Amino acid sequence: MAVPRNRTSNARKNSRRSHHAKVAKNATACSNCKKMRLSHKVCPHCGYYAGRLLVDATA
Ligand SMILES: [Zn+2]
Repeated sequence: MAVPRNRTSNARKNSRRSHHAKVAKNATACSNCKKMRLSHKVCPHCGYYAGRLLVDATA
């Protein structure tokens, strides 16, 4: 197995990890209950999507 010849510097390690940041999920306010929900998903709080009740979230 290959063994690294040189120690990776802190700067090289950190610049490699500059792409590892988490990105926030795109959350928008529900048009029915005004709570935050993921866009293009049925609201987990009230079960509404596109202005109509699709899933009974209260059960
Ligand atoms: Zn909702």
